[in-house]
Amino acid sequence: MLLENKVAIVTGASRGIGRSIALLFSKEGAKISAIARTEQDLKNLKDEIESTGGKCLIFKGDVSDENDVKKSVEKTIQEFGKIDILVNNAGFGIYKPVVELTTEEFDKMVAVNFRGVFLFTKYVLPHMMRQNSGVIINISSIAGTLGVRNMAVYAATKWAVNGFTESIMHEVREYNIRVASLCPGSVDTNFSNVAGSNPPTKDKVLKPEDVAQTALLIATLPERAMLSHLILRPTNPR
Ligand code: NAP
Repeated sequence: MLLENKVAIVTGASRGIGRSIALLFSKEGAKISAIARTEQDLKNLKDEIESTGGKCLIFKGDVSDENDVKKSVEKTIQEFGKIDILVNNAGFGIYKPVVELTTEEFDKMVAVNFRGVFLFTKYVLPHMMRQNSGVIINISSIAGTLGVRNMAVYAATKWAVNGFTESIMHEVREYNIRVASLCPGSVDTNFSNVAGSNPPTKDKVLKPEDVAQTALLIATLPERAMLSHLILRPTNPR
């Protein structure tokens, strides 16, 4: 198993890409600490992981709430003793022309998609620095590499994540900590089922499992090698 004895925090693990990453990392031997707001979905994930002999700690919380983040990191350390991998995955998008987007919607997207990444990174890094190893994978988006009509603020949060990721990478590589932004194109999850989105044909886009497999690759390279920025596209989406 590729992640035997590793401990991974996965945010937004209740469904979609985060859930796939949690399941694959657990299958490869990692102990999972899962955070999201929907308790029942987290319980279902825990049951599924434990039914195959894995270990899963769940934490109902909001990634934009500093107290929730602090507590979930502390709980992970209490339960598992260390953190080897952090996957900052929780995120969402609201698709509207910018003149129609409310200030509250702006604040919420920035809080979840960017502040959440900052908070988890801030509270997990001291543990990784002490260990002198670690992997942080930020699930960004291809929208964080280009401009997208009706997604200006969502795209901007992902540009922010990419800038933050690359800067942090330079800050902590001397501790053997690898930091990566993984930028998928369209993935078949609930994410695209929101008003205003125009997803390509469902059966041609990426599956959450494809993103999980890429995250596993990032987490399992030899420690001297680091994938720091990756765009994952559907091969033939339309
Ligand atoms: P999804 O199916 O809607 O899942 C989003 C996950 O994030 C859920 O587990 C949700 O759980 C969690 N979440 C949302 N807000 C949260 C908050 N405030 N605190 C804690 N957890 C929160 O969407 P997905 O497609 O898997 O998206 C995962 C990531 O991939 C996002 O960052 C998204 O921007 C990125 N992405 C998606 C696509 C795509 O086409 N699907 C493409 C590129 C990038 P709760 O609701 O239970 O809290």
